[in-house]
Amino acid sequence: MSSEVEQVPIVVDGDEITDVRFPESQQELAETLRSLQRDGAHALIVGGGTRPAFGNLGGPFEFAISTGKLNRILQYEPDNMTMAVEPGCTILQIREALAANRQSIALDAAHDSRSTIGGAYATGMSGPRRLGGGSLKDWVIGVEVMGPDGVNAKAGGMVVKNVTGFDMMHLHYGALGAFGVVTRLNLKVFPAPTASRSIQLTYDSAEDAHAAAVALLTSQLLPASIVVSNVPSGWQTSVRCDAPAEAIDLLVQRMMDVAARAVAPNATDLTEDGNNALSTFRAVADLATDGAVARLPIRASLQPAALPRLADAGWAVCADVGSGLVYARRPSIESIKDAGIDAFASATWLSLPPHLKADCDVFGPTPEAVQPILRRLKDSFDPKRRLNRGRFALGL
Ligand SMILES: Cc1cc2nc3c(=O)[nH]c(=O)nc-3n(C[C@H](O)[C@H](O)[C@H](O)COP(=O)(O)OP(=O)(O)OC[C@H]3O[C@@H](n4cnc5c(N)ncnc54)[C@H](O)[C@@H]3O)c2cc1C
Repeated sequence: MSSEVEQVPIVVDGDEITDVRFPESQQELAETLRSLQRDGAHALIVGGGTRPAFGNLGGPFEFAISTGKLNRILQYEPDNMTMAVEPGCTILQIREALAANRQSIALDAAHDSRSTIGGAYATGMSGPRRLGGGSLKDWVIGVEVMGPDGVNAKAGGMVVKNVTGFDMMHLHYGALGAFGVVTRLNLKVFPAPTASRSIQLTYDSAEDAHAAAVALLTSQLLPASIVVSNVPSGWQTSVRCDAPAEAIDLLVQRMMDVAARAVAPNATDLTEDGNNALSTFRAVADLATDGAVARLPIRASLQPAALPRLADAGWAVCADVGSGLVYARRPSIESIKDAGIDAFASATWLSLPPHLKADCDVFGPTPEAVQPILRRLKDSFDPKRRLNRGRFALGL
């Protein structure tokens, strides 16, 4: 087997994995997986390695399997608006290929030159642009996944209207590689907006910023994303607008009017880079630095009261108003009980110091009815716990 063994250390929850394998083909991946069975070993799957903080305490892992060299665009049919990719394609690579045909997907991973599409799918998390563009879950029309026995299973295909067999596309989405290595994704893609703008409005209180955000959300102006965050100058409502170039100025003006009619801001900042509207989300959800990062399900009606309480407890906050999820970051916490407000009882911890992970399931509470189903799935796909052992919900 020509698969290289490179000494690239990967650190997961403080443990270093120095043996990283880079299969370059499906066949090499299958051989690597079969060696797991033969040697009774356990492997961590890694894409770009930007999100190892997310997941339960797992392992130990004898080696890691990187998808870094499984990074080909396998098929791209702009007229059919479909693309098939290997899991190690980076978000940037996909974006650039699509841009050549003025197409796009609304993925805005923090480190797009490293983050892989396989990692994005396995992590199952989208950012605030889900409001306008949907999420990867909605765009995957086919998936191939290789189990720990080295056998590849396929579901879906290359057509947008495609309902056959079990819904494997959703099963593996967000499963954090617990049920196999994703080896191919078939995606539907979209026309790219020709212009983007960021509107950032500053308010004294979370309540005002939130009221402006809700006014935009319930308008008919279709913002691409809306977040409310605490910033040094107060509270900020950040809105991304995507539209055809000839319509963008009018759309932006209408959005600013709607927000100002709800509550007049202290300051308005308008920029031509739509990514600026996502900067506070990126800062809170960035897992590259240490600290505690939580995702909290807080109903929109409860957010105006919850956001200042989080800020008072020392959290940097970003409410994704479109999804009802609030992201919160704090440089350190002593214990999970010390976190601040009731919503932490159902938090998903995107990052947590390893010693605190030992006391909780970072995915938060899994409903009792779902627990036996998840266990049966893991037992069927990976009975010997060879892949990403312990990292998924319930320590699977
Ligand atoms: C806090 C947070 C915020 C995010 N925000 C956004 C956002 O704003 N917009 C957006 O579009 N996306 C967002 N995402 C998703 C993000 O894009 C992906 O997490 C990221 O792209 C993963 O890239 P990676 O290749 O570095 O993954 P890695 O860190 O390498 O892996 C992430 C996880 O996926 C598993 N994995 C990786 N590749 C495979 C594979 N081929 N098969 C099976 N399992 C695999 C790994 O074992 C690991 O558990 C967010 C994720 C998190 C956790």
